[in-house]
Amino acid sequence: MITRTESRWQTEDWQKAMKNMIRDVRSLYQAVNLNPEDLPAELSSRLDFPVRVPQNFVQRMQKGNALDPLLLQVLPQTAEMQDIAGFSTDPLAEAEFNMAPGLIHKYHGRVLLISNPSCSVHCRYCFRRHFPYQENTPGSQHWHKAMDYIANNKEIHEVILSGGDPLAANDDYLQQLIDKIAQIKHVKTLRIHTRQPVVMPERITNELLAVLTSSRLKTVMVIHSNHAQELQGDTVEALQLLQAHGIRLLNQSVFLKGINDTVQAQKSLLESLYTLNIQAYYLHVLDKVQGAGHFFCKDEDTKEIYAKLVTLLPGYMLPRLVREYPHAASKTAIDIIKAV
Ligand SMILES: *Cc1c(COP(=O)(O)O)cnc(C)c1O
Ligand code: SF4
Repeated sequence: MITRTESRWQTEDWQKAMKNMIRDVRSLYQAVNLNPEDLPAELSSRLDFPVRVPQNFVQRMQKGNALDPLLLQVLPQTAEMQDIAGFSTDPLAEAEFNMAPGLIHKYHGRVLLISNPSCSVHCRYCFRRHFPYQENTPGSQHWHKAMDYIANNKEIHEVILSGGDPLAANDDYLQQLIDKIAQIKHVKTLRIHTRQPVVMPERITNELLAVLTSSRLKTVMVIHSNHAQELQGDTVEALQLLQAHGIRLLNQSVFLKGINDTVQAQKSLLESLYTLNIQAYYLHVLDKVQGAGHFFCKDEDTKEIYAKLVTLLPGYMLPRLVREYPHAASKTAIDIIKAV
C-alpha cells in the first residue's frame, strides 16, 4: 500500500527524465534493438512534428518488434508526409472557439485551457499536432484574459487543463495557475488531461502531488492510455499514488489502426483499467488531422469491434465510443445499432 507521502521520484528524477528523452528516430530504433539502417532515409530529416519519447515508455516496448503497439504510436512513418483528402491541420475548428489566449470554450459549463504547449511524448496521431501554440501560450504572467473570461461566465464550473500536456510544465507554474483558478468561486472542479503518468511516471513526484492537492477544487485526472502494455511497471505506481491522494482517475483512448484495433486489444486495455480502478471514459475515433491518415480505421470496422466489446464486458467497464464534430455541443456518441 502506498501512503500519501511516499513517492520515490523527486523533481530531479523528473528533470533527468525530460533531459534524457529520445529525440530522433534512429536513437528510438536503436533503443528497441532494431536496426536504424532499415529506416527510410527521409525520416531522419524534415519532420514537422519531431520525435519525442521518454526512456521509461521505451522500457515497456517489446524489443526487436517493429510492430510493437507502443513503438508505433511514437515512430514517424513516411505515410505522415502524404496529404490525404479530408485530413486538415485543424480538424476540430478549435481556432473558432479560442475565446481568450489559451482558452477554448466549446461546451456548456466547462472550458479547456491550453495550459502548456509541449508534451513529454509526441504521439504521431495527435490532433493538436498543428495547433498554433505560439499564439496560445500565455505563460504565467498572461493568464488574466482567460481568468477574466471564466470569472465573467458564472456557468463555468469546471476548468480543464490540457495542452500539450499540463504536467509537462513545472510545479511553480502549475501552482500559480491552480491558485488563480481556485480564486474563482463558481469553479468547482479542476480536470487535468495528461499522458504523463503513462509515458513518464517519474513526473508524479511528491512536489507535484502537493501542488495537485493544495486547492479547494475537486481534482479529476483523465489519463490517456491506448494499450494494456502501457499500464505496467512504474506507471502502475504513479497511478496508485495519484489515487492515494484522492484524485479520481479516468481514461481516454483513441482507436488506432495497427495499435488497438482488435477486440482483444480493447478488452485487455479495459480489464487493466478496471484492475487499476480507473474508469474508462472515452474511446475516440481518430480526428482527421493531416499526417495521421495511416492510423485511420473505417467506421464500420470500429463499430463492429465496439459492438463485440459491448457483449463481452459489463457496462461499467465500457468507454463511450465518440467522435468530435467541430461544431457540436458535446462529443457525439457513435451509434452502433446497425453494426450489431
Ligand atoms: C473534449 C472537450 C471538453 C471536455 O468534454 P467532456 O465531455 O466534458 O469530457 C471540453 N472542451 C473541449 C474544447 C473539448 O474538446
Ligand atoms: S500526449 Fe496528447 S497532446 Fe501530447 S502529443 Fe500525445 S496525444 Fe498529443
